[in-house]
Amino acid sequence: MNPMATPQPYYPHYDPLRDTSPGTGMDYAPTYWRYHAGEPPENDGPVNANMEADVVLIGAGFTGLATALFLAREYGIKATVLEANQIGWGCTSRNGGQGHLAWGRLSRSQWVKKWGADTARRLHANSLEGFEVFKAMAEDPAIDCDPQHQGNLLIAHSKQAFEGLKSESDLCNSVLDYKTRLLDRNTVLDEYIGDQECHGALLEPVGIPVQPLKLAYGYARVARKLGAKIHTASPVQSWTTEGGVHYLRTPGGVVRTRTVGIATAGYTSPNLHKLTAYRNMPIMANSVWTRTLTDDEIEACGFRSTMIVTDTRKLRHYYRYLPEKRLQIGTRSAISGADAQNPKHLRTVQEAIARKFPALEGIETPWFSHGWMDISHDMMPRIVQPDSKQQVFYAQGYSGNGVSFSAYASKKLAALIAGGTIAESDLPIFSSPLPSHPLRPIRRLGQRALYKYFQLLDSVR
Ligand SMILES: Cc1cc2nc3c(=O)[nH]c(=O)nc-3n(C[C@H](O)[C@H](O)[C@H](O)COP(=O)(O)OP(=O)(O)OC[C@H]3O[C@@H](n4cnc5c(N)ncnc54)[C@H](O)[C@@H]3O)c2cc1C
Repeated sequence: MNPMATPQPYYPHYDPLRDTSPGTGMDYAPTYWRYHAGEPPENDGPVNANMEADVVLIGAGFTGLATALFLAREYGIKATVLEANQIGWGCTSRNGGQGHLAWGRLSRSQWVKKWGADTARRLHANSLEGFEVFKAMAEDPAIDCDPQHQGNLLIAHSKQAFEGLKSESDLCNSVLDYKTRLLDRNTVLDEYIGDQECHGALLEPVGIPVQPLKLAYGYARVARKLGAKIHTASPVQSWTTEGGVHYLRTPGGVVRTRTVGIATAGYTSPNLHKLTAYRNMPIMANSVWTRTLTDDEIEACGFRSTMIVTDTRKLRHYYRYLPEKRLQIGTRSAISGADAQNPKHLRTVQEAIARKFPALEGIETPWFSHGWMDISHDMMPRIVQPDSKQQVFYAQGYSGNGVSFSAYASKKLAALIAGGTIAESDLPIFSSPLPSHPLRPIRRLGQRALYKYFQLLDSVR
């Protein structure tokens, strides 16, 4: 029996830079994943009295849930997860399900430029090792999240972008020994996907698409089976600390604990804690899912693979042909929560569908949703204890690539929370807290100007 049976209506205008909490017991955003995943797993209902916990994790997305799982499985620590709304309510239920080999948002050539070839090689090795953590979870029958073909296709939307992919592929192959392949337009169209905008592609060997909400539900089921508690409809509304004890106030009671892991990503309100305030720029991305396609449409669109696909636009599109014969596709969206439902954002995606797959022009898209990604100010994620004097930890800043990274981040976050050390602690994902940004108060103004500029660049074919 799920004690939180009747959710509050979904509010689409939530804005992390304006609102103090992402709601209480709100229903899920309207996604195909929610429809497809069936009923959420049981949870422990809202906090309804003052209580004590060994470890509290704030947020029940991939990060909070998988950290609870690893804490229980590897250290015997039964954490309490406090979630404002529902299991997987944030980005976790709204993303493309693309499990990439991506640690943050920088390309591998940017790693080399920023830190040199040696650190880039070590980061790459770390990402391959970390991806195995995700793969094991995705392929675990107890988690049951419909993992698909391996690989990742980055499609050039212009001739110039294809030149860029050539040098990226060269660097991957020669500096990192990561065997990527360049594909010409005809190979992409004949063997993978009939994207009419394609000028060629880079094929990475690593990548697993999943049904993301089923992944989160799987994490939740396993974590609870191992003794974790998951309280939904329990937003942390204020947080005080005295003598090393944290008091987390929720509508139903105060939870006392000595150790907190913050797993609120793009939904982190600035008032939650000083250590996470304004450390990410919340950026909105959206997604649509089409109705089931007919066999003629599938043939006309050349959907021959369910591999994960992204194009090279600055405001990139990410898409997948799903095993259930639908197209899922999304891109960047509104800048503020207030503008989230502006029909122009849906129109942008529908226009992309028509350009890429003309046979689907005007197709019904019964599901349209958006979510707030945690884009870090240097595009790299962090898994840290930001202040050694406080038992407060976080894994954040995934920068739009959290499906696979969150599995590894959670394993490492669990290790830190359990008092362990991290062997690769000098790597950029562990070695410093998330940076803030000097122009933070006016970053949205900059974002508006940047989007206009990107749209111009993206229109060049
Ligand atoms: C449209 C879209 C498409 C994406 N596609 C991809 C993709 O294909 N591949 C990929 O790798 N990544 C993708 N991402 C990013 C990915 O979804 C995220 O990186 C990932 O889900 C982050 O998981 P999380 O658990 O850290 O945070 P979230 O899933 O965002 O969870 C944070 C949770 O914290 C809760 N919370 C916040 N404040 C409080 C509080 N005070 N008290 C209690 N609870 C609180 C929220 O309710 C929320 O449920 C996409 C994101 C979006 C929006």
